[in-house]
Amino acid sequence: MSRTITEIQWQAVIRNDAAYDGQFFYAVQTTGIFCRPSCKSRPPKIENILIFQHAEQALSASYRPCKRCKPTGQRLPDDEWITMVTDYIHINYMKKLTLPLLADISHGSPFHLHRTFKRIQGVTLLEYIQHIRMDRAKELLLTTKESIAEIGKHVGLTNTSYFITLFKKRTGQTPSSYRQIEH
Ligand SMILES: [Zn+2]
Repeated sequence: MSRTITEIQWQAVIRNDAAYDGQFFYAVQTTGIFCRPSCKSRPPKIENILIFQHAEQALSASYRPCKRCKPTGQRLPDDEWITMVTDYIHINYMKKLTLPLLADISHGSPFHLHRTFKRIQGVTLLEYIQHIRMDRAKELLLTTKESIAEIGKHVGLTNTSYFITLFKKRTGQTPSSYRQIEH
């Protein structure tokens, strides 16, 4: 049902060529989103692209319509959009995550993502990321013998003193005392 991209299609994607809209749709395997050729989102890596002739085919292959170019002609509901972002955070919490990066990946504007996230999740994007990271850090503190610095790195916080400060702020204990008390 899906095919790899041809040179002509790739040129249409990188030039955002609206003349090709309706002729094909491109899906990005790393983000799970599909777009029209004219989409203004940053072009993905060519090796991650799959081509579909019809939007329905992309949908039935579990790709979600892009928020920006709306390839099905309908808006992606906000809750689905935010689920896409939280799914991404759960898989990538160990990497550097910023609002502009997440907006880019989910094909929305940083301003709109910030507002919509807060409205749907009840916490800001940053708080949400910190919460996931601290939960994971607690688990690692109790189940591994890794150093505090290593655990910080595993949850995306390479600055150890920042990791300790944040952990203490959110749990009321330092990582070391959490490890001793809970063991
Ligand atoms: Zn798009």
